[in-house]
Amino acid sequence: MVFPWQLSLSLARYILHQRLARRSRYPLVLMLEPTLRCNLACAGCGRIREAEEIGHRELTVEECLAAIDEAGAPILPLTGGEPLLHSEIGSIVRGAVARRVYVYLCTNGLQLQSALHRLAPSPYLSFVVHLDGLARTHDRLAGRGGVFAAAMAGVAAAKAAGFQVRTNTTVYRGADPKELSNLFSALAAMGVDGMMVSPAFGYEQVGADIFPTRAEATGLIGPILAQHRWLRFYSTPLYRDLLSGRVSLPCSPWSTPTRNPRGWKRPCYLLADGYCASYAELMQTPWERYGPGNDPRCAHCMMHSGFEASALEAATKSPRELARLMVWHLLW
Ligand code: SF4
Repeated sequence: MVFPWQLSLSLARYILHQRLARRSRYPLVLMLEPTLRCNLACAGCGRIREAEEIGHRELTVEECLAAIDEAGAPILPLTGGEPLLHSEIGSIVRGAVARRVYVYLCTNGLQLQSALHRLAPSPYLSFVVHLDGLARTHDRLAGRGGVFAAAMAGVAAAKAAGFQVRTNTTVYRGADPKELSNLFSALAAMGVDGMMVSPAFGYEQVGADIFPTRAEATGLIGPILAQHRWLRFYSTPLYRDLLSGRVSLPCSPWSTPTRNPRGWKRPCYLLADGYCASYAELMQTPWERYGPGNDPRCAHCMMHSGFEASALEAATKSPRELARLMVWHLLW
């Protein structure tokens, strides 16, 4: 199965609980950024400007655990910045796992091998290694040589040590579909537990002409997902339909709140219109102002952080989509 059965069970229980409490807006995923420091300066990264603005300020272990308790979301991507640069990342992960929260530690892989001794394999922990292409492409986007090789070595070492390892691939304008196909085949052959693919988001502050339009992204990603339909992509079937241009979905930015050293980011993981002092304050955001058709910055966005929850919500309301979701979960 592409996810541990425990995760699916607790997710189903959590959603049922929210429905019984008649909550229509609730968090599924907390994007926690303990540090915005990074050991790379990737071409398409929108976090670099934010990191410069706050200097080296990081979240403490206590602040991280308080954010987890405050949001109450069952899934916790630890992102940033490079989370493995946080000196207390082991304590943050252990605190989350003790709360039975599913941790997805997102890393560029450079320090993965050397960090393994600080963590223990668990059904509640998975690494998510970022890989945007094969060596030449990935190293160019990462801004230096050897990054791809280090990340692949990290994947192999983490798998050998008994950890769950997933990957995340961002697709930029002009990406080579054949190269991405070869990347996914190579990762599948290494036994990764799942792969994710999503289009790059056009950060205003990055300003580079490397971000695909929605039509360009679906034209690139749709055929790859169709060709590799039997590989373990851990995006839900309806979200993959969105990436393939077969359906459109609204955005649910409240489903994926982001907490970093500046506060609770408003309105979503990608846009930084402001920061709130608490999760409760974040939930007062006038959400109707955001999403495709409401805010021009959202026009080409198809990021999982905004749309996976919408896909899940739509699937639970359609017997056909619910059956598809269950088959996908049981067979992949
Ligand atoms: S569509 Fe949603 S997730 Fe994407 S930038 Fe807009 S508000 Fe954020």
